[in-house]
Amino acid sequence: MSLTFNNRTALVTGAGRGIGRAIAETLARHGVTVICVSKSADSCGAAAAAITAAGGKAKALAVDVADGAAIAQAAEALLAEFPAIDMLVNNAGITRDGLLFRMSEADWNDVISTNLSSCYHWTKHLARPMTRARWGRIVNITSVSGIMGNAGQANYSAAKAGMIGLTKSLAREFAGRNVTVNAVAPGFIKTDMTTDFVNNPEMAGKVLEAVPLKRFGEAADIANMTAYLCAEEANYITGQVFTVDGGMAM
Ligand code: NAP
Repeated sequence: MSLTFNNRTALVTGAGRGIGRAIAETLARHGVTVICVSKSADSCGAAAAAITAAGGKAKALAVDVADGAAIAQAAEALLAEFPAIDMLVNNAGITRDGLLFRMSEADWNDVISTNLSSCYHWTKHLARPMTRARWGRIVNITSVSGIMGNAGQANYSAAKAGMIGLTKSLAREFAGRNVTVNAVAPGFIKTDMTTDFVNNPEMAGKVLEAVPLKRFGEAADIANMTAYLCAEEANYITGQVFTVDGGMAM
């Protein structure tokens, strides 16, 4: 099935590495101009350079998404530079795992602000022009941890569950303006975030016991679902959470 994108523009957070980079590259291959946001300039710079080298259109922008004021400033400049930012993929995320009694307030706050509050800030700034244009796509990259919970990830699971509530509420708020809001919930995907246990045969074996397809996912698996939700063809889908997890959260 071919997907229709009509030369639109997307902003993807956490586009420097892993899942975000795969999403940025996939959208760019479909002719979308991609604003690649990451924390380090090197990381988003490399992603944007790779897209441009492959014939796509991209801009790199280093923004700390845990900083609401930095997002406000970046969004204002982008809306002055681009005639429209039609798609927003809130993908940037971190983990700071630990059992609750040992979890510091800093680890709680860092995870909530990077994974969840960032979505509030980016959406608040970029969704208004989408509603005016009567077209927009917002995809929030949550996690199966936000659906099932996970011991040692109270901060991360709370942030990811919060993203699901945000997704469903905003889907209802924006539906009348033809702006869809959906979430993708990855299971275990091979990226820098999961290197420690993917490369540890004992830990990997334990994790895969819970995955019916018996393998880790690839960043491209998440990128394909996200690209579909951003395409014209997904115009009747909003407020949904799509798990891409090898069957783990059935
Ligand atoms: P990753 O490989 O660690 O990459 C994370 C990306 O987010 C990087 O580009 C990083 O920027 C960016 N980022 C982190 N903190 C940031 C901040 N404060 N400001 C701006 N950018 C920031 O992670 P991933 O595995 O691709 O995960 C992507 C998303 O999928 C996350 O939301 C994660 O929670 C979710 N997820 C992943 C898995 C998995 O198995 N991998 C499973 C479920 C959900 P730099 O490159 O500059 O460091």
